[in-house]
Amino acid sequence: MARKYVDCAAPGCTLRLSAEDEKELETAVVDHAVMHHQVQDTPAFRERVRQAMKEE
Ligand SMILES: [Zn+2]
Repeated sequence: MARKYVDCAAPGCTLRLSAEDEKELETAVVDHAVMHHQVQDTPAFRERVRQAMKEE
């Protein structure tokens, strides 16, 4: 199974998160964005996270 990754889209942030499981990756990206970028955990944000996932 291919790993998926997401590059954090916040200005000045160079973090890349990756996981084998899409749900796990989604949760990690949302946690990071909420904790470090004052992002609201909304269904719309989670949808954007899923669309930003790419295969490694
Ligand atoms: Zn970030």
